[in-house]
Amino acid sequence: MERRIYIFDTTLRDGEQVPGARLNTKQKVEIAKQLEKLNVDIIEAGFPCSSPGDLEAVKAIARDIKNPVICGLARAVKEDIDICWEAVKEAAHPRIHVFLGSSDIHVEKKLRKDKASALRMASEAVRYAKSLCGEVEYSTEDASRSDFNYLCDVIRAVVKEGATIINIPDTVGYAIPDEFGALIRKIKENVQELDSVTLSVHCHNDLGLAVANSLAAVKEGANQVECTINGIGERAGNASLEEIVMALRTRTPLFAVHTGINAKEIYKTSRLVSRIMNIPVQPNKAIVGSNAFAHSSGIHQDGILKDRRTYEIIRPEDVGIKQHAIVLTARSGRAALKHRLGELGYELEKDVFQRVYKRFLNVADRKKEILSDDLVSIVEVELTKVAETYSFVNLQILSGNDITPMASIALKKGDDIITDASIGNGPVNAAFNSIERILGKTGQLLDFDLKAVTHGKDALGEAMVRVKIEDQVYSGTGTSPDIIEASARAYVNAFNRYFANHK
Ligand SMILES: [Zn+2]
Repeated sequence: MERRIYIFDTTLRDGEQVPGARLNTKQKVEIAKQLEKLNVDIIEAGFPCSSPGDLEAVKAIARDIKNPVICGLARAVKEDIDICWEAVKEAAHPRIHVFLGSSDIHVEKKLRKDKASALRMASEAVRYAKSLCGEVEYSTEDASRSDFNYLCDVIRAVVKEGATIINIPDTVGYAIPDEFGALIRKIKENVQELDSVTLSVHCHNDLGLAVANSLAAVKEGANQVECTINGIGERAGNASLEEIVMALRTRTPLFAVHTGINAKEIYKTSRLVSRIMNIPVQPNKAIVGSNAFAHSSGIHQDGILKDRRTYEIIRPEDVGIKQHAIVLTARSGRAALKHRLGELGYELEKDVFQRVYKRFLNVADRKKEILSDDLVSIVEVELTKVAETYSFVNLQILSGNDITPMASIALKKGDDIITDASIGNGPVNAAFNSIERILGKTGQLLDFDLKAVTHGKDALGEAMVRVKIEDQVYSGTGTSPDIIEASARAYVNAFNRYFANHK
């Protein structure tokens, strides 16, 4: 019998800790809905005591999402646990996830306690959480650098208090696969109480080993893996969900385990998370990168044409990458657009469809053929838009190699159209300066990323920006066949996120 591995997704908690990836409730619910389609077992929806916004978002997810377990994170103190329970209690399947450091450095330096009192603190927290919620997970933070005997003592104590999931995190990404697998095996051998408990792992990628460590743990008997879409998370990130799932699937005979993941939703989930959080996926990223299935050498292409299996261990369609190319033109009507969107997996509400159609026509007027990826880019920008305080109307650029670039921009606020112009050291800079003059606000551009959505000279350009406004970082995206327009749209989008938070 194959063992079942439970997939615990923490994109909305660990992943959201990435600077500039802060989400509002609507965006979090949107991602949670897609995670439900992906059929993850557990959604860690947030850290409810970290902010009122996070509490509200976890509550909304608990109300809206029915199938997966909805989990909230809490430090091992009563106030955190109370707020966490408040956040998840309406879920069909709630879980409280309590964590406390177990390594010497965490216990002594961070908590400023001795081990005996830290252990008491853990027991009391789990007992209290269990009095509220039937399902309690306990994380031994920094487990991979903890004293082994103490680690086992903590596990025994919290299991006795009712924790039914024990998580062994490699919090700082320090472990090496053989060693981490051995740690899991040793814990299982030493703690008999674990027989009725789910053993979980949570690996970070500081040495690029998060997925390898998680797989080593699965081989040694771990049956829950904590991971994130695209591997995002603190610092170098977490183990990537898509890599774990596809490794287990591609090498089923070796691992003899299975997950409940609906792999055909992987690509769509990856795109959605990248877009909403404004974190681009590197082209060579395994499973979901734009080059993950591109065969460029002649010998490989020849092999692929003869039999795909010569150089392909996963079929792109298995993870939901659709490969039919040509789609629509400016003359395609609403029905054709709706049909193609349906094929791509989008059921849009009327007003969103209306916006997408308008934008589609605008783009199709300038770019002859609209390919699937263009359409996905247009839809996702519309889907992830926040309420727009300012909307983009038009732009004119005067630029060349021996004149000072100048941009004139028109934005709409309510019923008013506001126009202003500025020079800059390049056309994009001039456009951003004009936008700031209209908004009466300045930002510091931290990151600017521009890429072509599809191939060819008339490809649709997609811009992503991260802007520091006051002391917070906001990100924005924009697409257009004109890269300066795409950049301007992204810049306005980032400021709209700022305005949405400062009403
Ligand atoms: Zn983490």
